[in-house]
Amino acid sequence: MLNKKRDDHIRLEDWHTHNRFCRHAEGTIEDYIKKAIKFNLDLIGISDHFPYEYLRNSNLRIEQVPFQEYAMRLNEVDSYLSSIEELKLKYKDKIQIRTAFEIDYFRSHEVDLEKEFYSRVEKLDYILGSVHILHGRSKLFAFDDKRFLKMYKEYDSIDNIYLEYYQKIQNMIHSDKFDFDVLSHFDLPKKYNKRAINKDLVMNEAIKTLDLAKKADLTIEINTGGLRKEINEQYPSYEIIEKMHELDIPILFGSDAHHPNDLGYKFDKMLKIVKKIGYSNLAHFNKRKRKFIEI
Ligand SMILES: [Zn+2]
Ligand SMILES: [Zn+2]
Repeated sequence: MLNKKRDDHIRLEDWHTHNRFCRHAEGTIEDYIKKAIKFNLDLIGISDHFPYEYLRNSNLRIEQVPFQEYAMRLNEVDSYLSSIEELKLKYKDKIQIRTAFEIDYFRSHEVDLEKEFYSRVEKLDYILGSVHILHGRSKLFAFDDKRFLKMYKEYDSIDNIYLEYYQKIQNMIHSDKFDFDVLSHFDLPKKYNKRAINKDLVMNEAIKTLDLAKKADLTIEINTGGLRKEINEQYPSYEIIEKMHELDIPILFGSDAHHPNDLGYKFDKMLKIVKKIGYSNLAHFNKRKRKFIEI
C-alpha cells in the first residue's frame, strides 16, 4: 500500500518495529531498513524488546512468562546498539534511523532495571514504555500471548484485566525510576477481541491514565498492530484518541512490525483518522528530545 510514491509531502515515520533480536520477529534490522526505504518511509525507529532477564532474580512465579522468547539477551544489548549505529551510517542518505527499546515495566524490578539499563541510555533516541505482563491471582502471565489466555479465567471479569492493566500503566507513569517517552499500544487488553463489559468503569480508568500521561508530558503511540489482530482496530480506539486530542496529548505512529512487510501498516488510513479527530502534527524524537512534524 505504501510502495507507491506519495503525491504529497507528508512525512511518514514508523516508531515501533521489532526484528530478529527478540526471537519472535522475522528479519534482521537491515531487512527492516531496506523495506522501510522501499515503502518510502521517512524514518524507522528500531525499538526491539528490552531483555526480561532481570525477572529471573524474582520471587514471583514466571513460568507463564517465557521471556527467552520475548526479547534479546542482556549480553546482546551492546551488539544490538552497535548494529543500529553502523546501519545509521550506511543508510544515512536514504532514511532516518532512530535507536530505541520497548521496555516492560515491573514495579518490583525498577532497581534491577536501573542497574542493567540506564548506563546505556545515552545511545537511545526514545523509549517505548509497555505493559505485557499481569500478576494474575497466582502467577505472572503474559496476557497478550495466546498460549496464556486460559489465565483470564482467574479473573471474575475481563474488566478486572483492564483495571489491573491501567493500574500498572499508572504505576509506570508515577515511577521516578522508570524513565520513558512514549506509551505503547494503550488499550492492549482488547487484542483478542476482549471488549470491556462495564464500558464506563473501564473508560474512566483509561481517562484517569490519560490525565496522568498528560501531566507527565508523555507521547502516546497510535499502534496499527491491532489492525492485524482479532480485534481489527488500532490501539487505542477512536474514542480514546478523541479524548487524547481533547487533552492535547502528542501522538506518533507505530506499526509494531514483527515482519518487514508490516512496516507503515495502514498509516495512510490512520493519518485520515487522526486528522479528522483534529490532530495537525505528530511527535518526532531525536536523542530523547521531542519535536513535532506537520501532517
Ligand atoms: Zn514482540
Ligand atoms: Zn508491545
